[in-house]
Amino acid sequence: MIRAVRNARPLGGHDPVDLVLRDGIISAVAPAGALDISTGPDVIDADGRFVLPGLWDEHVHMTQWAQSRRRIDVGEAESAAEAAAIVRSALASRTDADDVIVGVGFRDGLWPDTPTASVLDAVVADRALVLISADVHSVWLNSAAMVRFGVESGDGLLREEAAFAVTRTLDSASDTVIDEWVREAAADAAARGVVGIVDLEMRWNLDDWMRRVGGGFDALRVEFGVYPQHLDRAIAQRLRSGLPVAGEVSVGPLKVITDGSLNTRTAYCCDPYPDATEHAYGLLTVPPCDLQPLMARGHAAGFRLAIHAIGDAANRLALDAFARLGHGGRIEHAQLVRRSDLPRFAALGVTASVQPEHAMDDRDVAERYWPGRTHRAFPLRDLIDSGAHVVLGSDAPVAPLDPWIAISAATARTRDERAPFHGEQAITVAEALAASTRSRVAAGEHADLVLIDADPLQMDARELRSMPVAHTLMAGRPTFGPAVAAQRDAATA
Ligand SMILES: [Zn+2]
Repeated sequence: MIRAVRNARPLGGHDPVDLVLRDGIISAVAPAGALDISTGPDVIDADGRFVLPGLWDEHVHMTQWAQSRRRIDVGEAESAAEAAAIVRSALASRTDADDVIVGVGFRDGLWPDTPTASVLDAVVADRALVLISADVHSVWLNSAAMVRFGVESGDGLLREEAAFAVTRTLDSASDTVIDEWVREAAADAAARGVVGIVDLEMRWNLDDWMRRVGGGFDALRVEFGVYPQHLDRAIAQRLRSGLPVAGEVSVGPLKVITDGSLNTRTAYCCDPYPDATEHAYGLLTVPPCDLQPLMARGHAAGFRLAIHAIGDAANRLALDAFARLGHGGRIEHAQLVRRSDLPRFAALGVTASVQPEHAMDDRDVAERYWPGRTHRAFPLRDLIDSGAHVVLGSDAPVAPLDPWIAISAATARTRDERAPFHGEQAITVAEALAASTRSRVAAGEHADLVLIDADPLQMDARELRSMPVAHTLMAGRPTFGPAVAAQRDAATA
């Protein structure tokens, strides 16, 4: 445990302060040198570094993220043929013992050719090959995988629930192996200043996290989601949002997915997709009549609500359901919102949980499939100006679990030489930081702290992405920094 942090500079041109930490809480903040703090191994000298509250990633799929970091990444492919070629060269250089070969990250929204089973059969015919799209709302199978997963018809591309069903069965590594990968992913998150995540993995997450904490996991605060298919079980076990279950892990929201995604052209919209042959307006995965009763049932059982809505029609229906429920919650994504719906977030107490890097990944796809509507796509500025509470996340594995990437995307709306994507929707760095943190650097708050080498208020978009983090503390305990490195070295020595 760290007893004090000396000589740390709060953002905004303030003089350096000393922080006294006790029982996981900041017990005092005073001008540097004003308190009599003896030095010791449990005191960090920040050396004038900047101090921030610990960062949160408000939307993560932790098991998927931990696994996707090890899967074949076809994210660079600009056609189905290119994706197949990437898989071919990846297979040449790796000995994959798993019986199913898995790749991730394809974005077919702008491809000139069609992803079909036969394109993949040309690469691998004798083993099952599954590629998961970047937005995780579709999977692309070769013929062997179609046989293996009992997909009897179609061209090898599955969407929404059919895709999720295949993805769920791909968690083929043992719990022990996946838990180790999760531990590594969490350590890397802590190295970016993260102290907490909302884990919306599409699983029965309770057992996974109990087991991980039992195995020593203590790098992050975790709030895990419960999905409708597990709601009965969760209620029977008396789970409810906020209930601590082990270590710093607690029960998060009831997560309901009401529509698809932009890349898969299943986000449910008020206007049709250009050239759509089926699902012209996207796909509603929970009928409107069922949504509010489902939310009411979760709410009555003590669950906070997190409603996935990407298209403007799905957002409107989710807001309608919150209005009928008479209680707020969160909308996850809120990627396309009608102007008239913007003020309803604040009025209904609905937080917009958004992933700014998606706008960078999808700016071209958005122009193509939401033509003439992108001025209200990823409307961060409008949401904040309308009074909505906005929080940021990555939706890892869709984007990397790194809040600095989200902060950079939210404030610059570009990640390269291109002009900002609707720069009028950019928010300030201070706003993005507030949307990525849950506490303050103040007495009485959690001792969740990050020490960084540079002032984010003075950095450009590129610098923000690679923000140098020096120390991360969660509840007063180092989760990243020299102390953690020393511990690790001692353990392996
Ligand atoms: Zn998600």
